Formats: sequence, structure tokens, C-alpha cells
Amino acid sequence: MRATRAIYAELDQRPVQRDCIRRTECCQFKLTGRTPMLTAGEALVAAAALRATGRRSLPESADEKTGRCPLLNPAGKCLIYDARPFGCRTHFCSAAGGPYTRDEVRDLVRRLEEIDARLGGDGPHALPMALEDALEKILHPARGAQRR
Ligand code: SF4
Repeated sequence: MRATRAIYAELDQRPVQRDCIRRTECCQFKLTGRTPMLTAGEALVAAAALRATGRRSLPESADEKTGRCPLLNPAGKCLIYDARPFGCRTHFCSAAGGPYTRDEVRDLVRRLEEIDARLGGDGPHALPMALEDALEKILHPARGAQRR
């Protein structure tokens, strides 16, 4: 988790002009046609942040039409904004400056993939599933160890 957070901090230091003003357009997966894909390290960071809110499971997504992210609360705020996954930090809507290009973040993506491999992951998974798995690991670490 430390290594993943270090990557997020490094991204924040990059001199690329983007300005997320939390319009949450990119959090409506059906409308955008995109669901963030999380590597194992990202999922653990996000799950730990969700756990820190006192939750033991993913909130039910309230809006079938937009397929809104389950981490977007009814007031339209991300429950884990400071721990949001890499995709949420790089796929900006056009109002916020547009998405990062692959070249701008290729090295960081590679490091996330390396962390995924070290954690025994098999590549990125869609946010809801990745978070459910990571929550299970945090809540029941012994079960994961037994499965391995
Ligand atoms: S994790 Fe937060 S920023 Fe990312 S899609 Fe969900 S609500 Fe939006």
C-alpha cells in the first residue's frame, strides 16, 4: 500500500495541467462507458480507505441508469477521494483538461503492474469486483492465506 501511495504522490508532482473540480461525471460508469480498472495495490489502498469510514462492504450503487460508482455517496462526493484509484486520477473529463496520455504515465502504470504481480494479482479488475476482493482480504486475511 505504501508503494502504491508513493505512486499517487509522484503523479501529483507531475507538471501536467489538469484541474479536477469534482464534477463526478467520470464516476458515472454507464454514461462514460468506462469503469476504472484497479491493480491489487490500488484496490487495497481504496479498500483500506473505505474500511476507515467504518464500512465493511461496498455501499449499494443507488443509480442503475448511470451505473454510478458505489463509492460516490448520495451527496455526490467520493467516499475515498484521497485514496481514489489511479484511473480516477488520470482520466479527467474534458472540463477538467481531458485524460492523461499513456506516455505521460506509462512508467507509473508499469510500477502499479509490478506491485500487482508482487501481490499475486492477475492484472487489473473492474472497480467493484477489485474492491470487494480487497475488502475481503483486509477483513479476513486468514481466508486469503488458506486459499493460497
Ligand atoms: S472511486 Fe471516487 S473518484 Fe473514482 S469513480 Fe468512484 S467515486 Fe469517482
